Amino acid sequence: MDLGISGRRAAVAAASRGLGYAAAAALAGEGVHVALCSRDPDAIAAAATSIGHDAVPLTADVSTANGARGFVDAARDALGGIDILVTNAGGPPPGDFSSTRVDQYLAALELNCLSVIAMCDGAVPAMREQQWGRVVAITSIAVRQPIPQLILSNTARAGATGFLKTLAREVAGDGVTVNSLQPGIHDTPRIRELYGGELDARDAGIPAGVIGRPEDFGRVAAFLCSESASFVTGTAIPVDGGAYTGIL
Ligand code: NAD
Repeated sequence: MDLGISGRRAAVAAASRGLGYAAAAALAGEGVHVALCSRDPDAIAAAATSIGHDAVPLTADVSTANGARGFVDAARDALGGIDILVTNAGGPPPGDFSSTRVDQYLAALELNCLSVIAMCDGAVPAMREQQWGRVVAITSIAVRQPIPQLILSNTARAGATGFLKTLAREVAGDGVTVNSLQPGIHDTPRIRELYGGELDARDAGIPAGVIGRPEDFGRVAAFLCSESASFVTGTAIPVDGGAYTGIL
């Protein structure tokens, strides 16, 4: 299937590994010019080399609104414009209500909510002017079903999702779609750090019986950026092997 986005320009945040990397690689494989970032210059250079297709490595820290905005500005300079924005960042530290201090919420909100807003603020106005744009935010299945011991993530991502839904309706008439992907458990370095050792899909409550593959997740992200997905906006799509138990 031709996604119809060859030659488009994409900024993909937090992409030296894991789901961000997979989204960048899938887009590059479709002929999209990609700029990607992480905080570590060597890691992001290696990721860009591995992706190929002249992917542009940028060093940026998206844990603050300024840092996130700086990444978008640098990506625009490198690519000559931005048609596609994939927002992403690392996850906040684990903890529950009892173990989490109030000031930690501020940092998490900046990392997983304000950074999304800042990246959209940097990229969406020009998308509206050119009457074409795609925003795909990588959030978490925690938006639908809060994950125990991840109270910071549960809290910040709900805010980001409210922002994205509101933005989607405001810009839909300008050819700009705004959607989020809600990953369940995928085999990435973060998940191995969080849960350690061998990942077991049954123990993790995944009906599909397998752990998600980042490369499949990346292709779902690329599809949301396609021409064919132009009528898909304002959605928040679980990619979780059926783990989420609710109806909607
Ligand atoms: P990961 O830790 O494997 O990769 C994160 C990437 O982001 C790395 O390239 C890292 O260098 C980069 N990064 C982290 N903080 C950054 C910052 N401040 N500025 C710039 N780059 C930064 O994580 P992942 O598993 O790929 O997850 C991506 C996002 O999806 C995270 O927010 C995570 O919490 C969320 N998520 C992941 C899963 C999963 O199963 N992997 C499930 C639910 C939610």
